[in-house]
Amino acid sequence: MKMDSLRKPVVPTDPSWWFQEALTAEKDIAPCPPLDGQKEVDVAIVGGGFAGLWTACTLKDRDPRLTVALIEAAACGSGASSKNGGMASGYESWVGTLAEQYGADAALAMVRAGRRAQDMIRTFARECGTDLWWNDSGVVRISTHPSHDAKIDKWLEDAARFGLADTVQRLSPEEVQAHCRSGLFRGGAFFPEASNVQPGRLARALRRAALGKGVAIYEETPMTALDRGQPARVRTPRGALVARDVVLAMNTGLTTLVEARRHISMFSSYVVMTAPATEALERAGWTGREAIVDLRQFGRYARTTPGGNTLGGWTGGPIGYRDDYRSPILREDRTNGERAARGLRELVPDLAGVELEKAWGGGVDVSPDRLPFFLTLPGTRIRYAGGFSGHGVNAACIAGQCLASLVLEQRDEWATLPLCTREVPTFPPEPFRVLGARAIRWGFITCEEARQAGRREPLLARALAAVPSAIGMRLGTR
Ligand SMILES: Cc1cc2nc3c(=O)[nH]c(=O)nc-3n(C[C@H](O)[C@H](O)[C@H](O)COP(=O)(O)OP(=O)(O)OC[C@H]3O[C@@H](n4cnc5c(N)ncnc54)[C@H](O)[C@@H]3O)c2cc1C
Repeated sequence: MKMDSLRKPVVPTDPSWWFQEALTAEKDIAPCPPLDGQKEVDVAIVGGGFAGLWTACTLKDRDPRLTVALIEAAACGSGASSKNGGMASGYESWVGTLAEQYGADAALAMVRAGRRAQDMIRTFARECGTDLWWNDSGVVRISTHPSHDAKIDKWLEDAARFGLADTVQRLSPEEVQAHCRSGLFRGGAFFPEASNVQPGRLARALRRAALGKGVAIYEETPMTALDRGQPARVRTPRGALVARDVVLAMNTGLTTLVEARRHISMFSSYVVMTAPATEALERAGWTGREAIVDLRQFGRYARTTPGGNTLGGWTGGPIGYRDDYRSPILREDRTNGERAARGLRELVPDLAGVELEKAWGGGVDVSPDRLPFFLTLPGTRIRYAGGFSGHGVNAACIAGQCLASLVLEQRDEWATLPLCTREVPTFPPEPFRVLGARAIRWGFITCEEARQAGRREPLLARALAAVPSAIGMRLGTR
């Protein structure tokens, strides 16, 4: 593999390190040739990432007689599901904000749903027959500037108020340094419920599980058109799926659907993976497997693999326009690949000399309240899932449960979550959405960099960074 040092120019390319590793580890890959001809099924699913695959598996678990077919434009798991940081967590740390938005009962229902999903993924990891590198070491969230400290206070207050005091622990600066030494780290908070996983292996194991349950999977099969009749028809280059129910689980590809587009702003996220760095990690005293996330508005994070490779991520990549989800700025932007590398160097200076094995980027489907939504096109049995907002490892498992409940018309604890029932806020139409989002992004980045360098934040940047909270939107990671 070609190596770049963490200091050299970084060139993001597909596929991700995770996906390559997962394919290398996968024995006897069952072929899933493209769809050729017309097939009639009960449920057609579009998209073979976590959301589509969890939905397929859940439908078959709940009703094995259903005929379920899934089409995937490329290879299952090659999208965001194998590009992410692999950090899985539920909604404990969101409880206060969720209560402000949707009430205490809904907030606690979300916390329960996140916990159940975390348990389901954990059980799947244990039983699927592949080592998914699942690891329950928690996450340390770190203040790197005094302006971050209020967030930690709020987490502690919210957790106490909602009876979740055991889900977060305040860390003194010394306690943070005991997790990992860095001149940048101040105090922090530890969330023991968080886990991490090899996401490419998880996606591929879900593909195998779906095939084992009798789901028909067609790869290299993009949906080219969708006829909304009853039954609906999912058109592909050489055939069609005719189905009573359709589930669209296309991530940023969902922006091609007019009804969904108004709920999605296409952000991007960039990641670098180092070569094995065991000695540097030992120098930094970071020998546990806990993830590290800073509290910037566009967060930087790091985590390790069992082999000592270290992943560094940055959540503030360029913003896409309208339905241009294939835009290279969402996955090949060098400046933002370098930002991910710089973030890792700054978070863990001991890694500065380590070689890089890979860099990549991917689109992120951000919703105005940063919560996923599982909705139905009016007058149809076509459901769609989006808005994972960079928090999809756990939430895509929730998606599988919610979408299965919607398809099977089961009014259970999943179908009644705000994810399925709330009035989903909308973004302004284009071009105002992309122009506004880009201006706000510039404001956030400029303020964060000024703060870290000890400079005053420019007035315009401050004003722009204040816009989302002034209009009730949640952007970024704080
Ligand atoms: C760099 C990065 C880091 C991230 N880090 C984290 C993290 O640490 N923790 C976390 O919880 N979340 C993280 N996320 C978010 C998480 O990866 C996603 O929310 C999650 O994978 C979404 O799953 P999905 O199935 O919706 O999307 P995908 O995995 O992208 O699957 C959608 C699939 O639909 C297919 N598709 C699209 N259009 C069509 C069409 N017309 N026809 C057929 N198929 C189509 C695509 O090819 C794709 O395979 C990160 C995301 C990125 C990009």
